[in-house]
Amino acid sequence: MKQYDLIVIGAGPGGYEAAFEAADLGMKTALVERADLGGTCLNRGCIPTKALLHAAERYREIREAALFGVTAENAAFDPALMQARKREVVSRLRQGIEDTAKRKKVDVIRGEGVVTGAGQVSVRGTDGEESLHAENILIASGSRPAVPPIPGIDLEGVVTSDEMLEWDRPVGRLVIIGGGVIGVEFATIYNALGSEVTVIEALPQLLPNMDRELGQSLKMLFKKRGIAVCTGARVEAIRRDADGALWCDYDAGKKESVPADVILVCVGRRPCAEGLFAENAVPETDRGRIVTDAHGQTGLPHVYAVGDVTGDVMLAHAASAAGRNAVRHMAGLAPREDTRFIPSCVYTSPEIACVGMTQDRAKAAGIDADSRKALMTANGKTVLTAAERGYIRVVFEKQSGKLLGAQMMCERATDMIAVFTQALANGLTVEDMAKAVFPHPTFSEAIGEALRA
Ligand code: NAD
Repeated sequence: MKQYDLIVIGAGPGGYEAAFEAADLGMKTALVERADLGGTCLNRGCIPTKALLHAAERYREIREAALFGVTAENAAFDPALMQARKREVVSRLRQGIEDTAKRKKVDVIRGEGVVTGAGQVSVRGTDGEESLHAENILIASGSRPAVPPIPGIDLEGVVTSDEMLEWDRPVGRLVIIGGGVIGVEFATIYNALGSEVTVIEALPQLLPNMDRELGQSLKMLFKKRGIAVCTGARVEAIRRDADGALWCDYDAGKKESVPADVILVCVGRRPCAEGLFAENAVPETDRGRIVTDAHGQTGLPHVYAVGDVTGDVMLAHAASAAGRNAVRHMAGLAPREDTRFIPSCVYTSPEIACVGMTQDRAKAAGIDADSRKALMTANGKTVLTAAERGYIRVVFEKQSGKLLGAQMMCERATDMIAVFTQALANGLTVEDMAKAVFPHPTFSEAIGEALRA
């Protein structure tokens, strides 16, 4: 039986970052993975989506470049070549994880890991079964797309993000069920590629987990770009008619139907918590997610869990931070990263990013909050790049000026949100933040403007 200090099950951003942190702390570590290294983020999530989005945005920019005095004839795209480029990006990054594991002397063990008892993991691989033993075990098994019980969901042409990311043919009419993060990112990609896109969202706004103003602004922008948006609309059935055409039936106060060539279902993700534990060693779960405490500990001694399988914030960077912190806890060290402030980024065009509280949420929590806002319309870089209108809102405690959160909809918002995350993690006030001089001409100078507003 091989002996380790830590066995990690699942090599997504939660698992591999935890394994690397453990190796850095001198722990002998095994990383167990049944599929490709990199998990959802690298293989079926963040990276492939953004690779395709980057390609689609280049195509849109070329078509709209006449405004800048630049014209290109016969602009075209090839979905198969876009897929090839995406695969190249994914494989290069996957190699990077493999090389890092080797460099840090983390044993990558291929197969299905099952916790069989205290400190024991059995790995079933193609070459048979192997037993491992460790002081600590960390589960980072991720999530999979939720498939709701809608009649017709199994029909051909109805896909989740897993299949959509492999799509290598043009799409005429795309209907997207769910106006959450995945829905609006795919709407952006396929709208840029010239498809006819409809988004159907059950709740009253797009991105319902975010600030109302962001959802409303995005809906207006989508409509301007020709994306049909139906909010407050619940999908009831998917069907094929006698001519073989695919239809999506929904109720938006009255019954409506929209035809589609492809229907993308993105109504959330479910934790992958099944089959991880033998009968004698099952931790507490809640609606499919493994329950953990603030350190990532499950109800079983020396068994931790992080990332999507804990059903928390289903974001790669949240899983990575939780993974590193959990390993530090195993080693008796304090957490380094403050996971109370996890930035959320949506890769629409312009981008959307938030961190901390909205003003509504602060008020609901009984905090006397105020906010300041800068519009991007007066920002030089926004005007010269002909970027869409947007804004930066800063939320703070009225009396102390302590920063509570920020919401942004503008170019590079997903990079710039780090400024606010840094300030939140260090308890800064808006006046502390306003001491910094922001460079000109940049999108970021609008942050300074919002802070001084
Ligand atoms: P989500 O929870 O963000 O959105 C799902 C949406 O579907 C919700 O708005 C919900 O109201 C709607 N919905 C549910 N049932 C419906 C129905 N029958 N008809 C119409 N609408 C319905 O989930 P998602 O977009 O699938 O993303 C899954 C997870 O992946 C999220 O946790 C997200 O944070 C993560 N993710 C993050 C990023 C990013 O950070 N850029 C990108 C992709 C995914």
